[in-house]
Amino acid sequence: MTVGTAKAWREGLDAGDLSSEALVRGSFLRIRTMDDRLHAILAVDEDRSLRLARKADARLRAGERSPVLGLPVVLKDNLHWSGLQVSCGSRIMDGYRAPYDATVVDRLLTAGAVPVAKANLDEFAMGSSGEFSAFTPACNPWDLARVPGGSSSGSVVAVSAGYAPLALGSDTGGSVRLPASFCNVTALRPTYGVLSRHGLTAMASSLDQVGPIAASAADIAMAFGVLAGRDPMDSTSVDLPGVERLNPLQPLKLKGLRIGLPTEYFGDGLEPGVRSVLQAAVQVFAEQGADIREVSLPHTRYAIDTYYLLCTSEVSSNLSRFDGVRYGHRARSGSLTDMIAETRDLGLGPEVKRRILLGAFCLSKGYYDAFYLKALRARTLITRDFDRAFESVDILATPVSPGTAFPFGAKSDDPLAMYLADAFTVPAPLAGIPCLSMPAGFTEGLPVGIQLIGPAFSDVMLLETAHTFQSLTPHHLETPPLFRTGANHGL
Ligand code: GLN
Repeated sequence: MTVGTAKAWREGLDAGDLSSEALVRGSFLRIRTMDDRLHAILAVDEDRSLRLARKADARLRAGERSPVLGLPVVLKDNLHWSGLQVSCGSRIMDGYRAPYDATVVDRLLTAGAVPVAKANLDEFAMGSSGEFSAFTPACNPWDLARVPGGSSSGSVVAVSAGYAPLALGSDTGGSVRLPASFCNVTALRPTYGVLSRHGLTAMASSLDQVGPIAASAADIAMAFGVLAGRDPMDSTSVDLPGVERLNPLQPLKLKGLRIGLPTEYFGDGLEPGVRSVLQAAVQVFAEQGADIREVSLPHTRYAIDTYYLLCTSEVSSNLSRFDGVRYGHRARSGSLTDMIAETRDLGLGPEVKRRILLGAFCLSKGYYDAFYLKALRARTLITRDFDRAFESVDILATPVSPGTAFPFGAKSDDPLAMYLADAFTVPAPLAGIPCLSMPAGFTEGLPVGIQLIGPAFSDVMLLETAHTFQSLTPHHLETPPLFRTGANHGL
């Protein structure tokens, strides 16, 4: 059993050497043999997935060709796939089943991809480690004693462990990029609006985006072309310029590409091992003739505060709908207010409650101007920093996280320490601009990601740049030790 990439499997399916049914059976076999240790998966419907796989095989036999036809995909369990649970990693959703398909899921299904599982996550996508899931948290396949990163923990682990070559996560402030960097996979957070949010459970609506995850940028491009574009069900959605360049993705010539290294992202907080991996990665770009420049994004130091004020404010408003009346679990208490209070008290975990309280505080009379409004203004300043930087460079290269995957428990009792892990992933979402994380190398046996950030609608250029890097480097091809012959690492 080998771990396939989307591109390799695409070729096998098109040549008739592989069948979708065999790939999907392979996904279930891996899930059955590995997931009791990795805990990436919360739900499957094997019969349904196999039926979809057989349909895809029939389409392939009839000569149909399209990038994701017949490929298994894993969906973060805050996305709606009709008939299946949408737990959002929370107890409060017990018993809720999706009544419809999210637009991104619908587009995958129409193109013939086969969803195989719903993946674990931090509760309502709030977290950076995966530990805030109400269920057993997912483990990092590179070291089972470490977190995989969050909040799209299960989606990233599923790709890293070869359950499927593609997965969808969501990224509000880093949730596909941070786990991608901890688990050595590639993940894109598109320009805000390029992927429809219809059917993605809202966390912080002005920041939420769906993010595709795969082994490489070329694999992401295969799914991204199918997913992207305006959706009448999401008024913030827009078409993606350059979508025709995704299939097949071509490498970008690096000669003359102006790459900015923001000073503020390379300060003292960066672990030395991460710094040297990044220096080597930047050298790869430089050797190809890229023009590497230092730039400044002076308001970066306000990004964490700004993000956590805006995010919690939006969370407190969005999550008020989970009251026991319309969705999931309902407590049995007498009066309506008691029922709502008890449902929320028992159904929501500590991080979600913390954010609802903080957000309600920020929005309350007398504090709104001092916190929420001020944060909105800071958001504009952060956005302007990027605008100014992109006057002199084409793209920015930064760390994804100050460190590598940390041991379970290292930050879960210290919310501030957990929030600081997001220092480099929250600024770009505040500006609505696209960014990706891709494997850059290793320190002490653990993966390190590099983040590329581009101006709005440069999504395809980001993928092309990542594709060039991946054609020059082997890091994204490295698989976790548990796949190496003779190693069992507790699996
Ligand atoms: N780690 C960030 C947070 O906890 C980002 C979460 C996300 O992107 N969904 O808010």
